[in-house]
Amino acid sequence: MKIANSSTTAVSLVEASLKRIDETKDYNIFTFIDKDRALKKAKEIDAKIKNGEPVGKLAGVPFALKANFLSKNRPANASAKILTDFLSPVDSTAVEKLENEGAICVGCVNLDAFAHGSSTENSFFGPTKNSKDKTRVAGGSSGGSAVAVALNCVEFATGTDTGGSIRQPASFNGVFGIKPTYGAISRYGVVAMASSLDVVGFFARSASDLDLLMTITAGRDEKDQTTLPDFYGEKDVELIKKSVGYVKEFVDSSALAPEIKSALEAKLSELKSKGYEIVELSMPTLEYALAAYYIIQPAEVASNLSRYDGIRYGFRTENLKAEDKTPLDLLFENTRSEGFMRENKRRIMIGNFVLSSGFYDAYFLKAAKARTLIIEEFEKAFEKVDAILTPVSPNPAFKLGEKVSDPVAMYLEDVMSVPVNLAGVPAVAFPAGETKDGLPLGLQIIGPRRSDKNLLKLVEEISE
Ligand code: GLN
Repeated sequence: MKIANSSTTAVSLVEASLKRIDETKDYNIFTFIDKDRALKKAKEIDAKIKNGEPVGKLAGVPFALKANFLSKNRPANASAKILTDFLSPVDSTAVEKLENEGAICVGCVNLDAFAHGSSTENSFFGPTKNSKDKTRVAGGSSGGSAVAVALNCVEFATGTDTGGSIRQPASFNGVFGIKPTYGAISRYGVVAMASSLDVVGFFARSASDLDLLMTITAGRDEKDQTTLPDFYGEKDVELIKKSVGYVKEFVDSSALAPEIKSALEAKLSELKSKGYEIVELSMPTLEYALAAYYIIQPAEVASNLSRYDGIRYGFRTENLKAEDKTPLDLLFENTRSEGFMRENKRRIMIGNFVLSSGFYDAYFLKAAKARTLIIEEFEKAFEKVDAILTPVSPNPAFKLGEKVSDPVAMYLEDVMSVPVNLAGVPAVAFPAGETKDGLPLGLQIIGPRRSDKNLLKLVEEISE
């Protein structure tokens, strides 16, 4: 990526970014542009460079922030009405680390409200359009982040991935995206979706850029007790078997688009010609991953979203009059019913249902058991292979509006991405060609926990 130095100024990098943001307005990528603050910081960095003072590893690099990251005095609205006008009082650890290295946030980008979705159509600000075809979806939930990187508005963007939200939009837009090992990067200051699945990660235009971002942001954080002890670049799991697996059940799936299947086969033969052993894996429990995910995830969503009550954050209803209810009840009820998007409400309803005493054993407990089997299946697979290559999603980017009124069709998009989150393992999505109509095709390479750095090395070796 382009970094400010004695021949390239930070101001010129930020100006180029702002110009590009303006040229790509039609895509509905940015929901907030932080022009003055970005230029001010760029000037400070240029002055330091001129005086020979040290600047960070990301000096002057413009980046976009998924709007579910808290960053002081920027709107952390998660593209949800209920968080409009909420200005963040703190910096998330990830943003703080990036800014300490001189990266410059040029603005916040669109997502499905609260990161619920696979297309960025569930946003209060309307959908972001695909970078290659404006009639198609950007993918989701981090659609804004992926398109901002694909259209060169920024050098990189932050993302969160609970069930595919980094990898799927990366693959729909032909960029690189990392979903790190669960706990690799602090989630302090990131709007929680489903806490046992959420991770912070990035979008960039190369695997080496992702490596730099991981080096800067990964590590233990006392403010997030779920972070792992530092491992990135120090104690990573090595990929030494020189073997890569593919999942038979995914390849045989009738839902898999033929062009994605061909892209996968082409990449497997490339790996073979590079000396990797290719191993067929049967992973039958992955069939249950989607069902388990759409129980565990809404259960955690219902709990995390209970804090939005109209008192503590952002939007508050003005509709406080009804004969049969107290104003306090109405405050909670109407704030939530006016402030949440339809998809948010659907998840809160499902979550409360699967956690209710009569249904807990039949749904939540069973899903938790299925999750354990999925974790074990990955562990067994990694005894045989270093990494597993799979599609990110069964289809390339679909049309805007095509699935938005059919939640189950939308959920089926996530069938190949959610197993990774349930198992807590890392995965890197990378571009692997395009359809005959020029739509990007993406694949993901999945490794054992803490193999993040070595996965990125592998991707560097096998991607264009
Ligand atoms: N598409 C998935 C969902 O709707 C994943 C979202 C995400 O990773 N934030 O839940």
